[in-house]
Amino acid sequence: IPSPFRVGRFAPSPTGAMHLGNARTALLAWLHSRSLGGTHLLRFEDLDVGRVREWAFDCTRRDLEWLGLDWDTEFIQSQRLDLYAQALARLDTYPCTCTRREVLAAIQDSAGAPHGAEPVYPGTCRPGSGRPKLGGTAPGHTGPVNPARPAAIRWRVPDEQVCAHDSWTGETLCQHLAADVGDFVLRRNDGAYAYHLAVVVDDALMGVTDIVRGVDLWPATPRQMALQQALGYPTARYFHVPLLTDYHGERLAKRGGAPPVKDLRERGENPRQVLAQLAQSLGWPVPQEVSAPELIPVWRASLGADLL
Ligand code: GLU
Ligand code: ZN
Repeated sequence: IPSPFRVGRFAPSPTGAMHLGNARTALLAWLHSRSLGGTHLLRFEDLDVGRVREWAFDCTRRDLEWLGLDWDTEFIQSQRLDLYAQALARLDTYPCTCTRREVLAAIQDSAGAPHGAEPVYPGTCRPGSGRPKLGGTAPGHTGPVNPARPAAIRWRVPDEQVCAHDSWTGETLCQHLAADVGDFVLRRNDGAYAYHLAVVVDDALMGVTDIVRGVDLWPATPRQMALQQALGYPTARYFHVPLLTDYHGERLAKRGGAPPVKDLRERGENPRQVLAQLAQSLGWPVPQEVSAPELIPVWRASLGADLL
């Protein structure tokens, strides 16, 4: 059966120099798009303006070119704010002026300890809904929303379970959004659209069918799928790939231990050797030097026949 038309993407945040861990994700995303004969997009996720570095755009482009990872079209999220505004307007949202401290205090008042790593927003500012307001009025102001503060916009998440499936690892992850995640922020109080909204809008409008990205985003997949469903978008196929770790199993990115690709490039290292090292770090049997296209069959072999 011929494969339907496929679109993949690499979506870096231009907050600094791409390191080898980012490069490996970029490589796998590229290999996937090209394995399927699909289109490959480069999308700069630059909505968190405080963290964006202007030089990082060009640095990333050059790093990718150096590794031989081409792309068909480039997008920059900060040029697409109207699209995020339109999507936001279609969702059931409400303003929230709670500080992080108020959220934590409200959780302690009602439900006890925060659940998981991120506190579940207790719905303090949620206007009358079927569900009870767990937190009541936030301390420090009389109404739920404090008009003296800039408001974030939260999405009233569906009171249902959403399950994500990963086509590469075979894993399934189910979350009950109301209980496990809570009403999450779609626009911050500084006006910045949240990553979860932008990524969902962009993947849908760009026709992305296959999402290859780091496994750190796997826990966010059910909430992104819920947004897709609420906006009437299709769900893409997901492929969450491991993050590059050192031999202690620690994330290189966290320790700042992964060398920037730019340093290797500027030092005149051989990109074919760098690609070989990235492939070897995945346990792939490859020679000391390879090109990106030479790795396509290896990635293809890791995909089930139904995915090709
Ligand atoms: N911009 C995100 C990151 O740098 C990736 C988003 C995605 O692939 O969905 O980690
Ligand atoms: Zn609030």
